[in-house]
Amino acid sequence: MTGQDGERFDFVIVGGGPAGLSAGITAARNGSSALVLEQGDKPGPRPRGEGVNPYRLFDELLGKGFLEAHAFVMTHGSVYHSPGALKEVVLPSGRPLYFFEWREFMDRLEEVAREEGVTVRTRARVTGVLEGEERQCLGVRYADADGEVHEVRGAAVLGCDGYQSVIGQHYGVAYDRMSCPIMKCRLSGANFDPEQTRALQFYLIGHGDLPYAPTFPPCVAYAFPLADQQMEVGLMARMIHGHRMKTVDRPSQEAFVEVWSHLKEEYPGFREYFVGATIDHEEPTDLPNASLLRDNVPAPGAVLLGDSAGFVDPFGSSGIYYSMEMARWWTQTIAEALQQSGDDPRSAWSDHNISRWGKGFRATKVRRHIRGSYLKVGLLEWYVFKHLRTAERMNRRWWVVSALMKLG
Ligand SMILES: Cc1cc2nc3c(=O)[nH]c(=O)nc-3n(C[C@H](O)[C@H](O)[C@H](O)COP(=O)(O)OP(=O)(O)OC[C@H]3O[C@@H](n4cnc5c(N)ncnc54)[C@H](O)[C@@H]3O)c2cc1C
Repeated sequence: MTGQDGERFDFVIVGGGPAGLSAGITAARNGSSALVLEQGDKPGPRPRGEGVNPYRLFDELLGKGFLEAHAFVMTHGSVYHSPGALKEVVLPSGRPLYFFEWREFMDRLEEVAREEGVTVRTRARVTGVLEGEERQCLGVRYADADGEVHEVRGAAVLGCDGYQSVIGQHYGVAYDRMSCPIMKCRLSGANFDPEQTRALQFYLIGHGDLPYAPTFPPCVAYAFPLADQQMEVGLMARMIHGHRMKTVDRPSQEAFVEVWSHLKEEYPGFREYFVGATIDHEEPTDLPNASLLRDNVPAPGAVLLGDSAGFVDPFGSSGIYYSMEMARWWTQTIAEALQQSGDDPRSAWSDHNISRWGKGFRATKVRRHIRGSYLKVGLLEWYVFKHLRTAERMNRRWWVVSALMKLG
């Protein structure tokens, strides 16, 4: 151990994505000291989601009007295509969707965090948890850019390190059951007519419909038309039931990429977007939208937030706003408890407080929304991907699928 060892903060935040930086800003605004440890060269080094509905939270955390000034606004709803793109259902837009550039969004969050006095340390990869009695979380161990290992202690450790959280894994969270493969891809010069293709496009593909990948899970390919012939395209595996389907295997990254390559070249409707287009970014990754963690405090001293807790709306696979809102709620709640605990911050982590926080969070509007969405999407996917399952049956019953989508 070297250098900065012996450091202490009110909040040690693992991961500088949307959840981690929002937690840092909230901590600082509540008068607490906060350290964000980020493994990348910059917070949020790899682009993830780039579309959100407008919420006041974005004004509060990014600055008023930042999102509007930097986003492309989409108001044309969604089109869901049946297997083989034989039929479709059009869902009108509920609210406008703002598309932004990930880097711009993350840089702004980092800027605000630093302005508020948060210490943001990059190239700092958290490798383990410092534990006290009864698994109490006292801090973390991290490696810096030179590989040197440091320890830092916090009155609260927030696991904001995404779909394979080191903190979550330490306390036994099974991310292989929670996270699903997803492809992140951006096109320029995409082949679509901006007058005709104005809505978000989703292509439903059942389990067993791809002859070259018989054990591949049910999945949805998507294409979001943006400004200037740009397009966000991708493929998400749907595993809410997939994990329990005997004939489904969770694909390896290689198997996932191979299916993606086939779809780009062959899948009716979907393949058209790639003709003559340039792929600016293409990366297989994971997204935790198969199940929601019930308890966010795996041990006194530690809280799991955002993707680390599966806090994603599985309908649109959207987690940016939700992870930020969740981070704000928990950080504010714990900051208040730490202030009340005076010289003994560990006393804030009494069984009584932990149980009260859990109940309080489960009663929030945002948590009820996510829970409700997991239930609704679970039912819809059970009917579409497990009960109907094949392309032929889905197309035959498309009127039922359309009605369920419109209801949902
Ligand atoms: C392809 C794709 C498309 C998506 N589309 C949308 C969308 O359109 N709208 C939407 O709302 N959501 C979308 N999402 C989901 C959204 O991006 C996530 O829910 C959101 O980024 C979660 O934020 P987070 O801070 O919890 O986790 P992350 O964004 O994953 O951030 C985790 C951070 O922790 C860091 N980290 C990881 N391990 C360590 C470690 N050991 N030590 C230190 N740092 C570490 C990472 O480098 C990263 O910076 C999409 C996701 C993907 C993958």
